[in-house]
Amino acid sequence: MTTSETGALTDGFHLVIDAMKLNDLNTIYGVPGIPITDFGRMAQAAGIRVISFRHEQHAGNAAAIAGYLTQKPGVCLTVSAPGFLNGLTALANATTNCFPMILISGSSEREIVDLQQGDYEEMDQLAIAKPLCKAAFRILHAEDIGIGIARAIRAACSGRPGGVYLDLPAKLFGQTMDAAAGAQSLVKVIDPAPAQLPSPEAVKRGLDLLKVAKKPLIILGKGAAYAQADEAIRELIEKSGIPYLPMSMAKGLLPDTHPQSAGAARSLALKQADTVMLIGARLNWLLSHGKGKTWGAPGTQKFIQIDIDPKEMDSNIEIAAPIVGDIKSTVAALLDGMGANWAAPPAEWTGAIREKVETNVARMAPRLQNNNVPMDFHGALGALKIIMKERPETILVNEGANTLDFARSIIDIYQPRKRLDVGTWGVMGIGMGFAVAAAVETGKPVLAVEGDSAFGFSGMEIETICRYNLPVCVVVFNNNGIYRGTDTNEVGDDVAPTVFVKDSRYDKMMEAFGGVGVYATSPDELSRAVNEALDSGKPTLINAVIDVNAGTESGRIGSLNPQSVVGKK
Ligand code: ADP
Ligand code: MG
Repeated sequence: MTTSETGALTDGFHLVIDAMKLNDLNTIYGVPGIPITDFGRMAQAAGIRVISFRHEQHAGNAAAIAGYLTQKPGVCLTVSAPGFLNGLTALANATTNCFPMILISGSSEREIVDLQQGDYEEMDQLAIAKPLCKAAFRILHAEDIGIGIARAIRAACSGRPGGVYLDLPAKLFGQTMDAAAGAQSLVKVIDPAPAQLPSPEAVKRGLDLLKVAKKPLIILGKGAAYAQADEAIRELIEKSGIPYLPMSMAKGLLPDTHPQSAGAARSLALKQADTVMLIGARLNWLLSHGKGKTWGAPGTQKFIQIDIDPKEMDSNIEIAAPIVGDIKSTVAALLDGMGANWAAPPAEWTGAIREKVETNVARMAPRLQNNNVPMDFHGALGALKIIMKERPETILVNEGANTLDFARSIIDIYQPRKRLDVGTWGVMGIGMGFAVAAAVETGKPVLAVEGDSAFGFSGMEIETICRYNLPVCVVVFNNNGIYRGTDTNEVGDDVAPTVFVKDSRYDKMMEAFGGVGVYATSPDELSRAVNEALDSGKPTLINAVIDVNAGTESGRIGSLNPQSVVGKK
């Protein structure tokens, strides 16, 4: 160990904290415990905001969505083995969704782990994390902390964003080194997500296709929302005159009420378009892989795809014009290449889409105004639709089966990155983690619309919401069960696997932690309670009683359930 003239020392704890602060990583989402309890305390003392959760998965989901909202990696901190594994689900989900995040887990002694001698919470965490994230690193020496954190940040943010695992053995935290040398070893990451300019040929190839298209369509995905190129994207859509379809989390990039939105004419648009330009959206299951009955006959549709990851091209079908580059640079290049005299697509096509949108919206409208008791999904969501229109800065978090599917199509979003949901995996359990981080990172009010089943996965985190006094209003659509509450068991005393305790009072849970609980049976009551919650900013949970008969198995993706052909009653 070398010492400077003053003899001042620093240690692993402080070097990790200093490295984070140097790189503007000012919030940690985590759960304390061995060996990171003191680290959390010291981070807080050093001015980092430390948000403690009740379960690591939700802390991880919070970090992931913080990354999506800010373009800086969200940091999740966990204990070893079980805590690490709990956080790993969120890390894998972040990677799947292309959200930048760093999972930092304390780990036990390498010497004991590697000889499998049975340490407290022993686990070879690095090896386990590797296949589930974009990159995984371990830091063994205090002098490597600066480089280790820098590598983690770059891996999370550059190219296609994703999750990074950083393994910090307990011993590292206590290691000391000369303070001046320590400060010198830290790295401020310059330009963590470098622009990736598309090649001029690729841009021209794309524009040439778009120019001759009779029925062009643009699909905006959450990559486009993540890119924060909001103005340029709006300009591209409006200048091109091309109808666009927002994927779920891209809703609000342009207001859903925009005259070029094909949102309410999705089936027609996908089936009949002759040229489709994907901007930060993958042709995965959410777009029926670009083929099958959702789409036109094979060979009748050409695809242009803008993505930062070259491997994404041709993942499911042939891409006629791949444009590899970051969305900000690429959209700018497209706008440039379109010049001043870009001709709008044939009115026959844009008119047909517009007409379909208007018909579908008009058909839906009366159903959204019903004041039935108990509520159905349309009546309840009709009330929330009006609230989101009046309060467009509110961030909507949404998960469930029917609650998700109906809310996605019914509730219009007016501003970018105001809709956060189950994402690429369609995963349940993101609700409260996303709600906490959305409030913490933006300071904006959050409305979490949750199926009763979905809520159960992260429901304990309402204590976290109350503890930090966050402006979160949770609405639980309570229909007594998974999908709906009507299943019965014909052969025994146990209830059916999909039903919950009848008429549960989720609102009482919120009251237990000092928040506001409301029991709402009609759309009017629901509306009043949500408005009050958003006005007051007080943590609120509204138990919205939904007709047990409303809802269908698995919502709109029931076809993904395998069906038994034998012995099913
Ligand atoms: P959605 O589910 O909304 O369709 P996906 O998550 O499937 O969206 O697709 C997002 C895509 O955006 C990914 O393929 C990812 O590589 C890409 N992407 C993310 N950020 C950028 C960026 N800044 N520039 C270009 N592409 C990006
Ligand atoms: Mg339910």
